[in-house]
Amino acid sequence: MKCAVCGGKVTPDDAGLTKKLINRAREDYLCRECLKKEFKLTDAQLDRLVENFRKAGCTLFK
Ligand SMILES: [Zn+2]
Repeated sequence: MKCAVCGGKVTPDDAGLTKKLINRAREDYLCRECLKKEFKLTDAQLDRLVENFRKAGCTLFK
């Protein structure tokens, strides 16, 4: 998967975050760097979000 903004690598976690933060139906994804810029979040904050979604049993995060 490639980032829709910069063409960088998008991990499955980044793809899940894109869907959670922007729009579930979204077909294009943002990489971690672009998510950070877009939502003004830090790596630690994004990691915590992934962890919370995973704990909640969200199927976007495995
Ligand atoms: Zn990017």
